[in-house]
Amino acid sequence: MILDWFYEEGPRGPENWKNICAIFHKAENESLQSPINLKEEEVTAEMDGNLLAFDYHATNFRSSFFNHTVHLNPVAGEKINHVVFNHKRYTLEDIHFHLPSEHLINSQQFPLEMHLVHRSAKNELLVIGVVAEPTQVPLNKKLAKIDNIALNPRNAARGFVVPILLNQLLPEKRTFFNYSGSLTTPPTEGPVEWLVFKMPVYMRQGLLKAFEEQIGKTNRPVQERKGRPIYLADK
Ligand SMILES: [Zn+2]
Repeated sequence: MILDWFYEEGPRGPENWKNICAIFHKAENESLQSPINLKEEEVTAEMDGNLLAFDYHATNFRSSFFNHTVHLNPVAGEKINHVVFNHKRYTLEDIHFHLPSEHLINSQQFPLEMHLVHRSAKNELLVIGVVAEPTQVPLNKKLAKIDNIALNPRNAARGFVVPILLNQLLPEKRTFFNYSGSLTTPPTEGPVEWLVFKMPVYMRQGLLKAFEEQIGKTNRPVQERKGRPIYLADK
């Protein structure tokens, strides 16, 4: 059964997702939750940045609209994109967007966060979070590479094919936080291996405005850390 849940406060808002059904309740109760505030001064330990390696290609994605936001999924037959983290291989399945950012970086919220969702052969989840902020000058075309038309929910529902240079979606300086949490949409199951870049990428102000108008507020509020370790890796 598919049950409606929303980002606005109320009986089906984030505070009450766990009360919507038994599955949502179980997911929230049985795993440490995401997003969280990632503070450099509170990291548990440094991590070796070489534990993360990307094997990303230029790929055609098909856009769609569900769970209140735009999703991009690799078109069948495309080259497989994957990351290797901590000696485990994860395949990229989905890219989607939240506004404003779900994770806070040193208590700072950004206007947008992109999630790159990966899965291992053993069905383990790894999500990469990339926060973004607008720039007026086209000095950095990273996120601007995504075509506007794919971001219109009405167009997205019609399944546009969008070519994306995946490596251009990542910040140049790849210092990242790592912690164990959950999905941020119901059912908020875990464990999810989270990698969140400390540095933002930049996007055209017009594109960010289109996101704001067409998608709007889609962020789950920060959850308690509950003493779990957070690692920081220079890369
Ligand atoms: Zn997400």
